[in-house]
Amino acid sequence: MKVLILGSGGREHALAWAVARSPRVTQVVCAPGNGGMAQIARCVPVDLRELAAMVRLAEAEQPALTIVGPELPLSLGVVDTLQQRGLRVFGPTRAAAMLESSKGFAKQFLHRHNIPTPNYAVCASAAEVEKAIEVFHPPIVVKADGLAAGKGVIICSSRHTAAEAAQGLFTGALLGAAERQVVIEEFLEGDEISFLCLSDGKHVTPLVPAQDHKRIGEGDTGPNTGGMGVYSTDSMLDAAMSDWILRHIAEPTVEGMAAEDAPFTGVLYCGLMMTARGPQVLEFNARFGDPETQAILARMESDLVDALEACIDGRLAGVALRWAPGASACVVASSGGYPGSYKTGLPITGLAAAAQVPGVEVFHAGTVLEGGQMLTAGGRVLGVTAAADTLSEALARAYQAMAEISFEGMYYRRDIGHRALK
Ligand code: AMP
Repeated sequence: MKVLILGSGGREHALAWAVARSPRVTQVVCAPGNGGMAQIARCVPVDLRELAAMVRLAEAEQPALTIVGPELPLSLGVVDTLQQRGLRVFGPTRAAAMLESSKGFAKQFLHRHNIPTPNYAVCASAAEVEKAIEVFHPPIVVKADGLAAGKGVIICSSRHTAAEAAQGLFTGALLGAAERQVVIEEFLEGDEISFLCLSDGKHVTPLVPAQDHKRIGEGDTGPNTGGMGVYSTDSMLDAAMSDWILRHIAEPTVEGMAAEDAPFTGVLYCGLMMTARGPQVLEFNARFGDPETQAILARMESDLVDALEACIDGRLAGVALRWAPGASACVVASSGGYPGSYKTGLPITGLAAAAQVPGVEVFHAGTVLEGGQMLTAGGRVLGVTAAADTLSEALARAYQAMAEISFEGMYYRRDIGHRALK
């Protein structure tokens, strides 16, 4: 069968790698893909902001399965449109993807269904913000309602700065586009866990948990990024807690969406804070995470295509996923200057030697293959991923492989997994 993957990051490279391992798959097409994906799949150009372009491509390719990587195409309704054209596609409809594309919707949904989440207010004007923040105590979290590629959350040390941040979101000064709503939220402390599940609209099956590292600097310092590394172990969530999250967060979310006539099929990514009053939902994503997917798929032993098709066909209840016991880790190599401005087009060396390290897969994010040479093409360039029996072994393998790789200005955090190793 032919599988089409929409996207061009490390997540999509990992998806393409996992899909290509399925004995049923004969052809993988990535749109637009990247330099790493070009080595295992056929890459075709497409603009992921253009619904019509994606539909034209899928109609021309006639894949047996389309997998949507990033959030933007989901929020444009690519799943709805491809389904209407009779194509099989993995991902939520536009209405279901609102769990990610509108934080205001997600918060009010959580509230309606009694699913634990920090106290909040959804505000549509500066005046509403002024009034709402009176009952919040600093630090106060201010969130853009819409998709913001990880840049829409501002943690404010006073009511005054919270009001300013909200104003910056309303005017567009902070993110470029003007927000119609902002979410004011109570600040919580605790460990963050990414709890990803597959859903067929009725049933939920968890993937292995992961913990990511959003800040650019070691010791979790400096500005937020798309994610500088992630790890997954069996011990980060015990069976009882995992079951609690499933029963009280993931399942009620999927049941609630079905009850509201927007059944959620796809990956439900619950971004949780583990607090003194239990796990709380900080955010939902309506898709695989990046770089969580790289670490999660490195541990997956089941056939990914079978699992995704079970979601589309509504028969997830009968599916038990198999995982390699132990751990995995993904360390991201970024361009010098990221998340600020950075150079691109720089040659990358050492990729072949890195791939020789046992248990290691080097997933590409911002790369392009030009005349046989791999070049940098983005802020996050590579995700060096390793699986092993223990987290320290997985990290040792990932860092050993990373030491082989080089490009001008290359940066990576040397402390991925530090919280678990402590
Ligand atoms: P989000 O996109 O909502 O997950 O927020 C991005 C990051 O901001 C999270 O991964 C947290 O580190 C932080 N964050 C978001 N909401 C809160 C909150 N209510 N309390 C503390 N930190 C938060």
